[in-house]
Amino acid sequence: MTKARILVLGTGGTIAGAAGSATGGGYRAGGLALAAMLEQLAALGLDAELVPQEVARIGSQDIGWPQWQALHAACLGAMDDLSITGIIITHGTDTAEETAFLLDLTLPTHKPVVLVGAMRPADAVGADGMRNFANAVKVASDRQAAGRGVVLVMGDSVLAARDARKAATAQIDAFKSFPRGSLARVTPANLDWFGPPHRVGEAARYAFPASLPRVAILTAGAGMDEQPVQALLGIGCKGVVLAGMGQGNAPACVLTALADAAVAGVPVVRSTRVDEGLVDRNIEVDDDALGLVAARALGPAKARMLLMVLIAVGITDVARIQAAFDSG
Ligand code: ASP
Repeated sequence: MTKARILVLGTGGTIAGAAGSATGGGYRAGGLALAAMLEQLAALGLDAELVPQEVARIGSQDIGWPQWQALHAACLGAMDDLSITGIIITHGTDTAEETAFLLDLTLPTHKPVVLVGAMRPADAVGADGMRNFANAVKVASDRQAAGRGVVLVMGDSVLAARDARKAATAQIDAFKSFPRGSLARVTPANLDWFGPPHRVGEAARYAFPASLPRVAILTAGAGMDEQPVQALLGIGCKGVVLAGMGQGNAPACVLTALADAAVAGVPVVRSTRVDEGLVDRNIEVDDDALGLVAARALGPAKARMLLMVLIAVGITDVARIQAAFDSG
């Protein structure tokens, strides 16, 4: 088999974080240049040629449209480049699930696309970045990784973009795959897939949008009133995602205001603030009567991403939005 040739797109994050002290608490995400990271990796003797391209050097809390555009364009170029066999994106963990999901929705699946991050900065004692990166190389080098959409490698797990979520703020084992389990177990030496690829030969699900509309997440809290809904409409939100209580609940006055928004043409998706949350239609809230969409297994951050993409490509009616969430 010919050696894998992997495009490595650097964006920053803790995997490229520099503290200047192996035991200190504070650090700067994205402090380390991609070239310096790859120099450290060279010492690992990985069985792949890495082609670096720095897109940004930022914490992923600051990632947004310009970086997403650049990443999508670079991935698309690499999909068409016969000399490239796979793609790795180094990324902060705070918003890795959002970038991964956006690319998952808008890229074809015929080459592996792997996001990788770390919970500890590169110069911390017990840093996890090099291990995670070596695991990502193992995944991106494997033809079996194609046809699975964009995947996230954290620790020794491979997670599908649609299921991956950050579930802890500090521990190394910070990511969870919900509601489906992880796709594979990986080490720098071994990779075991738990099932066959599910998106083989699939084209991009949605065109990459020319821009993304303003869509806000409104978190429900006990005793709140409807004024935050009106404030969001007042600043021109084109869609609203409710991070509701339980099964996507909110006080009656808030649901009424959201239903009014839906009638006025602003799609509203009910997700939940509960970590392991599934929100189905018409359970406690009468979605049919109120004109609302149930987010199903997508948490608020990913529900917002999907809703932005749908609105951007012109899908705004409730039935079609619900169908997209049902197949999420
Ligand atoms: N704030 C950092 C980031 O998302 C955290 C990390 O990478 O773990 O870039």
